[in-house]
Amino acid sequence: MKAIPSNDLFAQYTSTKKEIDTTLKEIIRKSAFIGGEYVEKLEKELAKFCDTKYAIGVNSGTDALYLSLWACGISKGDEVITTPFTFFATVEVIARLGAIPVFVDIDPQTFNINPSLIEKKITKKTRAIIPVHLYGLVADMEPIQRLAKKYKLHIIEDACQAIGATYKNKKAGSFGTTGCFSFYPTKNLSAWGDGGLITTSSKKVARQLVILRNHGSLKKYYNDHIGTSSRLDGIQAAILLAKFKHLDSWNKKRLKIAGAYSKKLSKISWLRLSTFDGKKQNHVFHQFTVRVTNGKRDKLQEYLKEKGISTIIYYPIPLHLLKALKYLGYKRGDFPVAEKAAKEVLSLPIYPELKLKQLSYIVEKISAFR
Ligand SMILES: *Cc1c(COP(=O)(O)O)cnc(C)c1O
Repeated sequence: MKAIPSNDLFAQYTSTKKEIDTTLKEIIRKSAFIGGEYVEKLEKELAKFCDTKYAIGVNSGTDALYLSLWACGISKGDEVITTPFTFFATVEVIARLGAIPVFVDIDPQTFNINPSLIEKKITKKTRAIIPVHLYGLVADMEPIQRLAKKYKLHIIEDACQAIGATYKNKKAGSFGTTGCFSFYPTKNLSAWGDGGLITTSSKKVARQLVILRNHGSLKKYYNDHIGTSSRLDGIQAAILLAKFKHLDSWNKKRLKIAGAYSKKLSKISWLRLSTFDGKKQNHVFHQFTVRVTNGKRDKLQEYLKEKGISTIIYYPIPLHLLKALKYLGYKRGDFPVAEKAAKEVLSLPIYPELKLKQLSYIVEKISAFR
């Protein structure tokens, strides 16, 4: 069996090659490199797809989060509640604005923020909650929305891993003041470089974002505000448009692969599979993540690597224990569920092009591990 990567981007290119090659030639001919018709078209299509009024293309998922907080007026001394079990960027952007990240532990079953622990962390300074739809599963939004309403807080969804996912038939990115997406090459909808997008149904926030992403100006050289440079490239937008047509079918394939994994792995006593309510949630399985409960997670990863199977640990260190965030004063034991997850999780290869034969090989090797 040939080595099985965590992702097969070249296989994905093969299925979209014709369209991508044609549009790229057109963009080169028109020199439509920044902004332009492809970006506008992508924004329109993704706003529609996410059931929001607006979508604003930006430079990355990180910038989508950063600009969202900025547009909501989050600044020095404000508190923003989020999860310690996510990619660093979620929290980095809070800190970059001088605001204070406040962590709330996760639900052991879904790995997402535990809504029942949020309220006691809300203070007079709290301005926003950033739920992260980790691995492609939307966080438990109903109680989060209730709290946001009660305390007049913004919700900024980190939907970077969850494009197309739904919760009670509502799309990821449509719950908060904004929804933040990343088109990083390994995401479910991905560019050939960096890219991101923000969804919102607030006209005011949309306008603010359009201004901020382009040096604080709506009209060139008339800079009314301090902003930044965070635009989406025409080339990336064209690639994304070509791939977007396949997104639903790719997400369905991921779901199917996850189902096959679950069925075949459920007999292994030292593996715990996460479950979700399929009636309430539509998971897009950005990752298929299992818990290795026998204390041998790292050994299993090493063993699978020897067998040519690539796996990834998302994430080995919960954010409150990272060196960069030491100044927040958290310590080991503060978020036991996230800390345990960090020791146990392992993400297995999942991508639309993964073959059943490859999946069987992976399962066979895991089953033989002692
Ligand atoms: C990928 C990701 C980001 C950052 O996106 P970039 O496009 O890489 O900047 C933020 N949050 C989560 C949860 C992500 O998975």
